[in-house]
Amino acid sequence: MARRKALFWHERNRDNRVQCDLCPHGCRIKEGEVGLCRVRKNEGGELYTLNYGEIGAIAIDPVEKKPLYHFFPGRNILSVGTTGCNLACGFCQNYSLAHGTPPTSYASPKQLVATAVEVREQGSLGLAYTYSEPGMWYEYVLDTARLAHCQGLKNVLVTNGYIEEEPLRELLPYIDAMNIDLKAFNESFYRHTCRGRLAPVMRTIELCREQTHVEVTTLLVPGLNDSPGEIEKLATWLASLDPNLVLHLSRYHPAYRFRLPPTPVESLAAAREIARRFLNYVYVGNIGGFDNNTRCPSCGNVLIRRDGYLTSITGEKDGHCSACGAVVAYKA
Ligand code: SF4
Repeated sequence: MARRKALFWHERNRDNRVQCDLCPHGCRIKEGEVGLCRVRKNEGGELYTLNYGEIGAIAIDPVEKKPLYHFFPGRNILSVGTTGCNLACGFCQNYSLAHGTPPTSYASPKQLVATAVEVREQGSLGLAYTYSEPGMWYEYVLDTARLAHCQGLKNVLVTNGYIEEEPLRELLPYIDAMNIDLKAFNESFYRHTCRGRLAPVMRTIELCREQTHVEVTTLLVPGLNDSPGEIEKLATWLASLDPNLVLHLSRYHPAYRFRLPPTPVESLAAAREIARRFLNYVYVGNIGGFDNNTRCPSCGNVLIRRDGYLTSITGEKDGHCSACGAVVAYKA
């Protein structure tokens, strides 16, 4: 594994221990040991990142697959992920990368950006740091995102939002869009199912939406975070930030340690109806059969038509709805 001196940590002045300041866990790590995420290690009283540039998954995906529905609809993006995670969601849908030890291969920031420039010819927007938590190779994402911007490429983060404010602020100037997981709107779910806390994720969403394009995803796990009351609270809070904030409600499938059956279609439909009372753009993912077209909130005209990952812009002209002239809330 490629190891580099980590950013954001400090000495604890006892037995060569260090404290990692990258995420809200604030792991205090003894010499020779790793943090909760398994990818940051105390070696000789200094903190190292163990997976710098170690790519565990790479593909060219539709940007809708991130999911981002209001950011250059219909375009592709080179997507990369590494190993490790700072949350421990029992239902993890990417557990082999997040919690396993899959094979990886090294690419320097320069090499990865060169590949992203090559595939720009095929309509790719830039780079998406996704599949697992991008904070897990924070130093690599920061170095690569800076270089990518110099080449005119876009940078996208698909993240659990569990990061401290200082490293986030350092990275944000290079990030053009984010999909942030809001795993539930109850503290108990975060604590018992994910080993995290809700408040830092809310702070991340608040901070990021002021500086970049943000969409939010909630994976609905039956009986744990999909009650009508919780969906109403979640949507109300998002709408208090901005009623045009895009919400993706995703279907859970049994994975990793969870054996609950998939989210019932009726729960997804009910959650969407509730969320739509507060938010202008609510989509349902990980399942077919739902109308995921983007409609003008003023007149209902279809702005973007979607059939799976096939996307066409049908009802927009010069940033306005072609039927009623309302301003449309997406980047293209
Ligand atoms: S990034 Fe990893 S080592 Fe650092 S505080 Fe979070 S879980 Fe602990």
